[in-house]
Amino acid sequence: MNRNSLSHSRRTLFQEKETIAAISTPFGESGIGIVRISGPLAQPIAQKLFKPKKKDHSYLISHHFNYGEIVDPQRGTPIDEVLIVLMKSPKTYTREDIVEIHCHGGYFILQKVLELVLKQGARMAQPGEFTKRAFLNGRIDLTQAEAVIDLIKAKTTASLEIANQQLRGFFYKEMLSLKAGLIEHLALIEAHIDFPEEEVEPIALREMTQDLAGMIQKIEEWVTSYEEGRVFREGIQCAIIGKTNVGKSSLLNILLKEERAIVTPIPGTTRDVIEEVLNIEGIPVRLMDTAGFRKAMDSIEEEGMKRARKRVADADLVLLMLDGNRELDGDDIEIIKETKEKKRVVIINKNDLTLRISLEDVKKHLQEDPIVSISALKNKGIEDLKKAIYHSLIHREIRATPEHLIVANIRHKNALAQAKDNLLSALKGLEEGTSLEFIAFEIRSALEALGEMVGETTTEEVLNRIFEQFCIGK
Ligand code: GDP
Repeated sequence: MNRNSLSHSRRTLFQEKETIAAISTPFGESGIGIVRISGPLAQPIAQKLFKPKKKDHSYLISHHFNYGEIVDPQRGTPIDEVLIVLMKSPKTYTREDIVEIHCHGGYFILQKVLELVLKQGARMAQPGEFTKRAFLNGRIDLTQAEAVIDLIKAKTTASLEIANQQLRGFFYKEMLSLKAGLIEHLALIEAHIDFPEEEVEPIALREMTQDLAGMIQKIEEWVTSYEEGRVFREGIQCAIIGKTNVGKSSLLNILLKEERAIVTPIPGTTRDVIEEVLNIEGIPVRLMDTAGFRKAMDSIEEEGMKRARKRVADADLVLLMLDGNRELDGDDIEIIKETKEKKRVVIINKNDLTLRISLEDVKKHLQEDPIVSISALKNKGIEDLKKAIYHSLIHREIRATPEHLIVANIRHKNALAQAKDNLLSALKGLEEGTSLEFIAFEIRSALEALGEMVGETTTEEVLNRIFEQFCIGK
């Protein structure tokens, strides 16, 4: 199915005639605030509310800024001085007529303008409805629509790169070419099912086998890229663990001072907590409270240990800190034991002082884990530490380029994994000489999984779940 017939089928399925409107900028006071309108009434509504500064500009020029005022048409009173942009379909975000009214960014002004727009016949947009229309009208596929949310939520350069790769349609293009290849194979197989007296030529079968194997390998790479993509997109939880006085708070302070890129309120499940998010080599790292494990002396310490265990259990990565100026002791061993199931980076701190810890001892207890020597006090070795953190999470160079696709969305990963399973069965069938019907069935199932991923056959329920994640006005 080519792009045009695809958009056509979407349009006939989900024809939208209503005009929608929303405030597209955040709540609060700001330099400007934007009210956005999309749909057939966008232009007539704008024309009704807008009074141009230049008398001879009584019409709105498309894709230009038009300067004037928004006036309450009933009372004739001016509401705000604005720049208004009319974008005539089809070269617009939604492929419908769009009007953006750039007001002063006061909440009351924006509400007032929105109210006037609604009075003229528009209705309030639902979250993500503008983007949903862009999808339904065939301007973007579903993976691109999802990239819009990722772009808005991106917290590091790497997650931005991945979202942009998807938004620009590289992902979609790969899926289309994969599908085109599969459709060709399916056509050949179906022709032979219809005319069973003609044997499939062995050379055609060989080529098909090779081609399918190549596709499976490609899909496999995309599926594995998901784990890495996820790290960049969602970030990781990290706990600094070590006995009292090893220098946990000192390290935390240095990292915060250097790398506090963003402080994001992340709503927790039971309470709202503000966690510190660091940007370490492009990975959003959420640092959790630090704590040590010692034999509990009293109930308060016992409580502290319980919490420390929970932190370790939740962490994707543990920074296990040892004091280089002291010998390895029972408390250290306890901590090593408590964290043995976790991915760890071992930090030997205080390398500005005499080395008293035995590195042999450390290696004996921590054979698999990378070890970094630092001085939190003198701010030494921090770059090495960041690199070690990065490499413990990412095992190969990861950059989102047209050649190197990164899958960062679980929906996409699941669809690809499904397609891969189907193609593996088809391949096995070809090798074992199973019936052509069976092979056709598996290829068709793979195509369905891919079709659902890009939004060709996605159910309304899945669509709603995706667009609910957007803010209103996007
Ligand atoms: P925490 O209990 O693990 O959080 O340890 P702190 O960060 O509070 O540090 C305990 C003590 O060790 C403080 O007096 C720090 O100044 C000192 N300290 C921390 N890191 C270093 C370091 O790299 N070198 C030296 N010489 N002292 C350090």
